[in-house]
Amino acid sequence: MSLKWLITYVVCWCFLLSKKSVAGVKTYTIGAIFHEDSDDIETAFECAVKHFNTFNTAISFRTRILHVPNDNSFTVYHEFCQMLEDEEDGLVAIFGPPSTPSVDIIDSIASKIELPNVQIHSSSYLWPNQSFNLYSINVHPGLEQLQIGIGKIVESLQWKVYAILYEDIESIIRLQQVLRLTHVGKEHVVLRKIDPTTFRPVLKELKKLGYAHIIIDYDYRYLIEILENAKALDMDAHTVDLSHLDILANITTMTITDMNDKFTYRFVKECDIGRTISINNSVDIPNTYVKFRPGLMWDAANIFMNSFFELHLTENHLVTKATCDGKETTGHGFRLANYMKIRLIPNTITGEIQFQNDQRSTLVLHVIEMMHGHATKTAVWSSANPEMVSFVRSEKEQKNLIDLYIKNTTFIVTSKTGRPYLMYKETEDPDEVLEGNDAFEGFTFDIIDHISKMLNFSYKFMITANNKHGSYDKEKKTWDGLMGDILNRRAHLGICDLTITEERRSAVDFSLPFMTLGISILYSKPKPQERDIFAFMDPLDPVVWLYIIAAYISITLSMYFLTRLAPGDWENPNPNDPDPEELENIWDLKNSSWLILGSTMSQGSDILPKGLSSRMGISMWWFFILIISSSYTANLSAFLTTSRLGPNIEGAESLASQTKIKYGTLNGGSTQSFFKQSNYSIYQRMWAQMSQAKPSVFVNDYAEGIKRVKTAKNQLYAFIMESSSIEYETERDCELKQVGGRLDSKGYGIAMPVNAPYRTAINSCILKMQEDGTLRGLKEKWWKEMHGGGACKEETDSSSSDMKLALDNIGGVFVVLFSGVGIACLLALAEFFWNVYSVSVEEHKSYKQILITEVQFFLKVWKTKKRTYEVSRSRSNLSNVAEVYSTLTKKED
Ligand code: GLU
Repeated sequence: MSLKWLITYVVCWCFLLSKKSVAGVKTYTIGAIFHEDSDDIETAFECAVKHFNTFNTAISFRTRILHVPNDNSFTVYHEFCQMLEDEEDGLVAIFGPPSTPSVDIIDSIASKIELPNVQIHSSSYLWPNQSFNLYSINVHPGLEQLQIGIGKIVESLQWKVYAILYEDIESIIRLQQVLRLTHVGKEHVVLRKIDPTTFRPVLKELKKLGYAHIIIDYDYRYLIEILENAKALDMDAHTVDLSHLDILANITTMTITDMNDKFTYRFVKECDIGRTISINNSVDIPNTYVKFRPGLMWDAANIFMNSFFELHLTENHLVTKATCDGKETTGHGFRLANYMKIRLIPNTITGEIQFQNDQRSTLVLHVIEMMHGHATKTAVWSSANPEMVSFVRSEKEQKNLIDLYIKNTTFIVTSKTGRPYLMYKETEDPDEVLEGNDAFEGFTFDIIDHISKMLNFSYKFMITANNKHGSYDKEKKTWDGLMGDILNRRAHLGICDLTITEERRSAVDFSLPFMTLGISILYSKPKPQERDIFAFMDPLDPVVWLYIIAAYISITLSMYFLTRLAPGDWENPNPNDPDPEELENIWDLKNSSWLILGSTMSQGSDILPKGLSSRMGISMWWFFILIISSSYTANLSAFLTTSRLGPNIEGAESLASQTKIKYGTLNGGSTQSFFKQSNYSIYQRMWAQMSQAKPSVFVNDYAEGIKRVKTAKNQLYAFIMESSSIEYETERDCELKQVGGRLDSKGYGIAMPVNAPYRTAINSCILKMQEDGTLRGLKEKWWKEMHGGGACKEETDSSSSDMKLALDNIGGVFVVLFSGVGIACLLALAEFFWNVYSVSVEEHKSYKQILITEVQFFLKVWKTKKRTYEVSRSRSNLSNVAEVYSTLTKKED
C-alpha cells in the first residue's frame, strides 16, 4: 500500500472515530415488508444489516419488519401506515414486499412520502415498460434482459423438439424469446399450462408423445414433485438436492448467483442460507447453491446501506417521520434513490448491478448442469455480450467429467432382434436359460461390447417393445421402437440395423455410421422347371401343330390331283419303247404323301414331279416348310433357355415397368419411407403400386419378407430390403439372389439422446474400430462365418449347368422315335403275316407251312437273296417233269 493511501486511510478512520465519539453511533431504522413464507429473503435482509453493523462503526441500522399476507393489499396498506405512524424517528427506506400483488400500494405510498422503496420483485410483466417511481430501486433483473438471456441459453442447447410447461402469464412473458425460437404449435414444440393438479396428466401426455426435452417455468418448490415425473429448468432448481432422484435425465438450470464466487460462498456461510458442496482435493472455493431472491435481497440491502453511509459522510441525514396522508415527507428520499442508481456497486452476488431508465440493466445468467446429483457451471450468458453464450468448462474438464459419467453409468442399450445384428443365443442344453446380456449375440452386440471395453463402462441390452426400428406416428405424434426408447429416456443407446435418416435425426442424435449399405432387391433364383418331355412341342402352339397336320393332308391331296392334271407327270412306262401305247402316272396317294412327308422332314424324295403346275405346288410346300422349320428351330432354343431363367427382372426400373411380379418392403422401416418420400418418378410409381397392392405387400419383419419371396408361386414376389441383409441371406440361402444394384447409399448408426455427453466418445470408438479393422472383422465373422455363412460360394457358377438340356427336356423326341419305330415294327409284322397268308392262299399250301418257311428264311440272316414263289413253283414243276421223264425213260429201257 502506498504511503499516500495509508495516510488517507488513517485520516478517514480518525474522522469517523471522531464523529462517533462526538455524536455517538447514529442508528437508523429500515422498514421491510415480507410475506409469511419469505423466510430466506428475510434472513438475507437481517443478515445483511447485521453484517453492515458489524463492520461499520459510524452509523448503524436496525430493522422494522412487517409480515403481510400475500393477497390482501388493503391489510398491507393499513399495516404499513401503522408502521409509519409508530416509527417516531422515521424510516430511512422501506424494503419489499417481495412479490407483485401489494408492490403497487407500497410503491405509491412511498412515492407520496418520498421514502426510498427498495424492491426485489420481478418488474411488472404486464406493463414491462411502465415508468418507475423516482423513489423506487428494483435490483431484480429487467424483463427484457431476462427474456433475451433465457432465449439465448435455450438456443445454445440446440433442442429441436421440446415441450414448455409454464405456470402463468408471467412465465409466458419470461419465455417470450424462447417461443420466438420456433413455431410453437407446429410439430416439434408444445406449450402446456400446469398446476399441481395437472402435473401428472400433462407429463404423462408428454411422455407418450415422446418429448424428452422439457422447459419448466414453475415455482421451484414444486420441482421435486415435477421431477419425479420429468426434468426441470428453473432459476432456483440448482439449489434443490436432486441426488436422491433416480432419473436418467440431464437437468439444466440457470441462476443469477455465481455458484463458484467467493462472495456468494461468504454470504451463504455468514447467513447460513443455501448449501455448499466442497470439491474433493481442490483449492477452489466450494460449489455454492443459493436461491436468487435471498441473493437479490442481500445485494439490495448492501447497496442501500452503503449508499446511505456514503451520503451520510458528506451530509448528516435529517430523517423525518412521514405519514401515509403525505402531510409529512422524509426529505432525503430523492437524493438517496438517485445516488443508489448511479453509484458503482462492487462485491455483489447477483452479478454487476447497473440501472438504466430506472431498471436494472445488467444481468449475468449462469447455466448449471446436473449430472449424477452434482451441479456444475457449464456456461454463462451476460447482458454485456447478449449474442453469445460462453461455455466455461475447459475441454479437459469437460472430458474428465464425461469420462466420469461414462464410467459410473450402466448404459441401457435398446435393440431389436434380427439376423445377424442381434439374436438370442442358442444353447446346447435346451434346459439352460440364459439371462441378461448372456442371452444375446450378434454383430451389434459385439460392437457395443468393444465400445464398452474401450470406454470402460458396463451395459445392459434390452429388446424394444414390438421389436421395431422406430417410426413416427404423425397422428399420435409419437415414435415407437428404438426411437421411442431413446426419446423417453428408457435407454442411453439404441443399436440395430437402424438407418440414419433425416426424420430420425431431427429427434435423436446418431453416432458415425458403423456400416454403409443401400436399398436393393431380394429375389428368388429360378426354380428347376417342372420337366416336360414334350417340351420340343412347346415352340409351336398346339393350334399351329394342328394346322400343319391339316396342311400336310390337304397338300397331299392337292398334289395327287395336280399331278393327275399335269401332262408332264404322265410318263412312258417303258423307256425302250419310243412310241408307247399307254402313259403311266406314278403319283398315286402313297407317293404323293411320301413326297410331302419327305420334304417336311427336309429329306426330299427319290421321285419328284415333272409337271409345271405340280412343281409349282411342291415348291410352295417347300417354302412353307422352310419358314416353319426355321421358326421352330429358332423358337426352340429361345424357348428352352428362357423357360429355365424364370421371369426377367434386372432392377427397380424393370420392377416398376411391370405389374405381374408384386414387390414390397418392411412396414414402418426406412426403406418404406424412402419410397413414400421419393421425388423420383420411378420410385413414386413403385410406391403407388406397393401401397395399392391387395393383399398388402408389406411385411412385419425381414423373415416374413424372405419367406414370401421363397414361397411365392412362379416367383411372383420380390422383396425390397437393405443390401447388408440381402448379403447375409444370399450367403446362406442359395435359392435367393440380389437383383440390380443399390438404389441409394446410407448407414447404420447408434442412436442416442440429443447432445448426449457420451456422443463424442462413442464416435471416436467407432472411428478407431473402423481404422483398426475391427468393424471389418466383425462383419466377416457374422456374415461369412457364423451360422452357416459361405454356404453358397460354389453355387455361383451353377448357372452354366442349368443351361444344359436334360433328358427330361428332350425325352419326348426319343418317345416319338421309339414309338414310331415300334409302330413300324408292328406294321412290318402285320405285313409279314399278311404276306404269309396271301402266299398260302396263292400256293394252295397250309398257312403253317408257309409261315415256317418264311420264319426259317428270316432267321437265316446271312442270306440276302430270296427266291420268289413263282420261280420256286416253276422249278418244282420242272423237277416234276424231269422226274416223270426219267420214270418214263426207265420204263422204256
Ligand atoms: N434399417 C431399416 C430402418 O432402420 C429397416 C429395414 C428396412 O426398412 O428395410 O428402418
